[in-house]
Amino acid sequence: MDREVPFSGKVKLGILGGGQLGKMIIDEVMRYDIYIGVIDPSDHPPAGTYANQTVKGSFRNYDEVMAFGKDYDVLTIEIEDVNTDALRDLEAQGVRVYPQPAVIDIFRDKCVQKQFYADCDIPTSDFTNYTSKPDSIPHFPFVWKAATGGYDGKGVQVVKNQKDWGAVPNQPCVIEQLVSIHKEIGVIVHRNAAGEIATFAPVEMEFHPTANLVELVFAPADLPENLAQKCEAIAQKLAEKTEIVGTLAVELFIDAAGNVLVNECAPRVHNSGHLSIEACYTSQFEQHVRAILNMPLGDTTLILPAAMGNVVGEEGYTGLVKYNGADDLLQTRGTYLHLYGKTETRPFRKMGHITCIDPDLDVARENVRNFRRNFKITSTS
Ligand code: ADP
Repeated sequence: MDREVPFSGKVKLGILGGGQLGKMIIDEVMRYDIYIGVIDPSDHPPAGTYANQTVKGSFRNYDEVMAFGKDYDVLTIEIEDVNTDALRDLEAQGVRVYPQPAVIDIFRDKCVQKQFYADCDIPTSDFTNYTSKPDSIPHFPFVWKAATGGYDGKGVQVVKNQKDWGAVPNQPCVIEQLVSIHKEIGVIVHRNAAGEIATFAPVEMEFHPTANLVELVFAPADLPENLAQKCEAIAQKLAEKTEIVGTLAVELFIDAAGNVLVNECAPRVHNSGHLSIEACYTSQFEQHVRAILNMPLGDTTLILPAAMGNVVGEEGYTGLVKYNGADDLLQTRGTYLHLYGKTETRPFRKMGHITCIDPDLDVARENVRNFRRNFKITSTS
């Protein structure tokens, strides 16, 4: 199929959000000679050093998004909490906005998202949506989730008793059945404007027991072939139903009975896909840009088993960042340290990640666990 070749003259790509995800998009696609700008409210966003243009501003503010976006051919996001009214108006003015504002609106709200799964016959845990904290509730335990504003486990509460319920704030929410989780799986899928779809093989996620942050992601997931295929098929169906152009990161549960349920999706590049940078022929970040510039999608095959661990700020340290104990990981073959360049650390803040690739997945996993223990992010004072 013939497609418009985007590199004649520099395409201008604007990213709403200048965090580590934006930085990694830029890292991965500068070789295509694309002009990239970011808008972010912070003084030194991780992507700012690498972008051709960095605008200090709010991606939630209508006027600021309009002013930024009108200078770009294509706009994308690295966070879903953006002003989609502005994106719709920019789209009407001829700017290509991928993912489409309508798709962002589905996934930025957990209530809308859950209803979408139900409408499309996508398996998900039983749920009820509420516009405020309900008076009558199901039997304990259950899961409460804020409709909007939650991330990395904030805004999610397993409610086991009346005391837990008392601590839940009054806001729009979804109440879900508590799933007996056997495994948490991630599948990243991309779709370009021509309708071509490519999925990455499922990855498996391990979480920090209290902070609700992904601690370790590894690939291939330890799944029987039929379940791996089911996960990929669900991701593909979601890409088809939404007609997304860009990246859809799909998080799934395998429950104790072996059912596959969608937990949630993000219409953007995702922590569960970081290992694709070193472990796959095409990374999620490059694939995202291929999808939104309507290039052919790249091969997603996993070249070697891989494990990735987030590196977060140590508890007890807040302030200017100090890195400690990287020598052993830097001397180990197949180990890659990513530092996001955040100047300030605080407990559990995502500051970087480590990926290890190895023909033996157990070695890759063990290396990441050890290196995460030794590599500490503290502060200068
Ligand atoms: P966030 O948007 O903050 O990442 P998630 O919806 O992914 O929130 O939930 C965070 C974590 O909480 C999940 O990874 C999972 O471990 C747990 N969780 C979420 N929903 C359920 C559920 N219905 N049953 C059991 N555990 C759940």
